[in-house]
Amino acid sequence: MKSKTEGPKGKIFIVSAPSGCGKTTLCKKLLKDKLKLYQSVSITTRPPRRGERNGTDYFFISAEEFIRMIDAKELLEYEENFGFLYGTPKRAVEDLLRKGRNVLLSIDVKGAMNVRKSYPHNSVLIFVMPPSMEELKNRLESREADTAKAISNRLKVAKQEVACKDNYDYVVVNDRLDAAYKRLREIILLEGESDARTRNR
Ligand code: ADP
Ligand code: 5GP
Repeated sequence: MKSKTEGPKGKIFIVSAPSGCGKTTLCKKLLKDKLKLYQSVSITTRPPRRGERNGTDYFFISAEEFIRMIDAKELLEYEENFGFLYGTPKRAVEDLLRKGRNVLLSIDVKGAMNVRKSYPHNSVLIFVMPPSMEELKNRLESREADTAKAISNRLKVAKQEVACKDNYDYVVVNDRLDAAYKRLREIILLEGESDARTRNR
């Protein structure tokens, strides 16, 4: 029989949102706040955007290295998005959870569902919504990172992702940044204090 103290003690907070919705902006604010949250830095084969730093925003790696990590079972989950591979390194997450730390993952909808399967009792899923598709388009354009064709593709995928929001524990609309951040912070504080074993899924 498993003892009550066995198993991971920390929680995994998973934030998903359609690309351009403001997930990175919100997660950076969370990490700067004193919430005792530790970021899981994903790996990706996508090239860095202006201002992005290797090891902070992502580990930017080659497709060959990514495939090696899949084969070596070093990833908790991985998905392809917009023609590039993205994945969560397993070891870093496991080490943090074992130490009782709460971990923040900023990953897509499919990845979120897979992590929940691995950690059904201590994952908290938060979906960040854009106030409208029109505003999402404005934000994608303001980021100046994608071509018009890529933006139109991101908007198409966004509609599919929004349709999955009911699978999440919380939905936060990122209309005004400060209000969305306040809500997100409240959720982290509330869930961070509750006992993982009381979550029943
Ligand atoms: P994501 O990580 O979800 O792709 P970003 O955090 O990169 O999105 O945000 C996309 C753009 O939208 C950025 O230019 C960011 O400054 C802007 N943005 C984020 N949240 C808001 C908000 N609440 N209101 C207006 N602009 C926002
Ligand atoms: P972007 O290129 O805009 O940074 O990210 C594109 C998409 O990939 C976003 O939906 C983002 O959440 C997702 N993503 C980033 N890292 C990971 C990851 O490690 N795993 C999965 N499944 N998705 C990720």
